[in-house]
Amino acid sequence: MTHPGATPSEKHNVVIIGSGFGGLTAAKTLKRADVDIKMIAKTTHHLFQPLLYQVATGIISEGEIAPLTRVILRDNKNCQVLLGEVTNIDLSNKTVDSVLLGHTYRTPYDSVIVAAGAGQSYFGNDHFAEWAPGMKTIDDALELRGRILGAFEQAERSSDPERRAKLLTFVVVGAGPTGVEMAGQIAELADHTLKGAFRHIDSTKARVILLDAAPAVLPPMGEKLGKKAAARLEKLGVEIQLGAMVTNVDRNGINVKYGDGTEERIECQTKVWSAGVAASPLAKIIAEQCGAEVDRAGRIKVLPDLTVPGHPEVFVVGDMALVDGVPGQAQGAIQGARYAAKLIKAELKGANPAFREPFKYFDKGSMATVSKYSAVVKVGPLEFGGFIGWLSWLFLHLIYLVGFKARLITALSWMGTLVGSHRGQLTITEQQAYARTRIEQLEEIVESVDDPQIAAT
Ligand SMILES: Cc1cc2nc3c(=O)[nH]c(=O)nc-3n(C[C@H](O)[C@H](O)[C@H](O)COP(=O)(O)OP(=O)(O)OC[C@H]3O[C@@H](n4cnc5c(N)ncnc54)[C@H](O)[C@@H]3O)c2cc1C
Repeated sequence: MTHPGATPSEKHNVVIIGSGFGGLTAAKTLKRADVDIKMIAKTTHHLFQPLLYQVATGIISEGEIAPLTRVILRDNKNCQVLLGEVTNIDLSNKTVDSVLLGHTYRTPYDSVIVAAGAGQSYFGNDHFAEWAPGMKTIDDALELRGRILGAFEQAERSSDPERRAKLLTFVVVGAGPTGVEMAGQIAELADHTLKGAFRHIDSTKARVILLDAAPAVLPPMGEKLGKKAAARLEKLGVEIQLGAMVTNVDRNGINVKYGDGTEERIECQTKVWSAGVAASPLAKIIAEQCGAEVDRAGRIKVLPDLTVPGHPEVFVVGDMALVDGVPGQAQGAIQGARYAAKLIKAELKGANPAFREPFKYFDKGSMATVSKYSAVVKVGPLEFGGFIGWLSWLFLHLIYLVGFKARLITALSWMGTLVGSHRGQLTITEQQAYARTRIEQLEEIVESVDDPQIAAT
């Protein structure tokens, strides 16, 4: 059965999987190429993940960081954007299967650029997710916003001091950039934005705990910047626990085991998980067909030209790919995707695939905000923090946001937060806070009733 909406082509068919940093860059680089592109992604938007924590803590709205992909690519006349979750890539037959609401579509390709990114890893404890959502999607950020603000609301109605203490304890697991940013922003929300807005509770008494099994905050940024970030967080009242391994997460709290063997139970309603990443399962699907290695984070080891063994037409870029010296950051995906798209263009013009130059990564550095007016930045040997770091962070994030209007609105939202601690996006709905379980139930129902026909596109 063929579904309408996907247009067959006689040209070189490029399938791009994912509309994140890698996917979008690939499509834009191929804009004027004589190819037919099908971009298949499981969301309708391109997500600027670095600002997700600001959605979760009510500073900006989700629309500012998640513009519609088909609108961004409106002028890419050679590109058709298709909604669907890719479930299989058949390397021998050169087809990609994707599913939308129980219907499976099969899309042929001549070249494929796989940029499906990574999800949250719970290190084998996936059941933690229900009580400690990660920070990877708009759904995650809105759910967390609902849980964080919902906890303050419930505390206001509670006459039991123990329950109030549990509701006003927020635990962030993982002291990488996302964990640091979340902990800092929850503390500022409690201490400034919500201060004086409740009658029964004092929001400034909320406990924010940041814990990590590693012995340092922000380990990839080095000892000096890690200590700087930790000192700033502690000044905000964040309790930092290092060498602290989470052994269990449930509705009411979290169990932690420390390096010295002692264990503690922390009663807390709101938990945020930012401790690990797991590459898209598509990496394993590809690896099994071509004999490539997959590391502990599920990333596929690619060849120097970002392809997989025996398939010069299959590029894997971004967070899914294991490439020496390339971090799981936006620049890794952007530069990898640009490289792959340029190779496709050059080879259509006659370049020989046997003589590809290997991919070279240019390290532009990394940064993380800790709080208002404070960030840490590492560019090559240069390390700095504080206000200058924060200004650099502000400038670069505005530059990389997609669309002039989004930049303008975000800049205005930031001004409101900076000048008066005002946050304009504190709306929460019951659906955002409690939808996870219901959606999972719905998906089970859809899976059990749908007819698994495959349609060509
Ligand atoms: C909270 C957070 C903060 C971050 N902060 C920073 C930062 O400050 N600086 C920085 O450089 N990096 C940061 N990163 C990392 C950066 O966002 C990633 O490295 C980057 O997004 C990787 O790009 P990608 O294209 O590989 O994957 P992504 O951008 O994640 O895109 C993956 C795409 O694939 C789609 N997809 C996934 N699976 C499927 C499937 N089966 N079928 C169809 N589509 C699929 C997704 O919907 C998405 O469109 C952050 C990440 C997170 C989560």
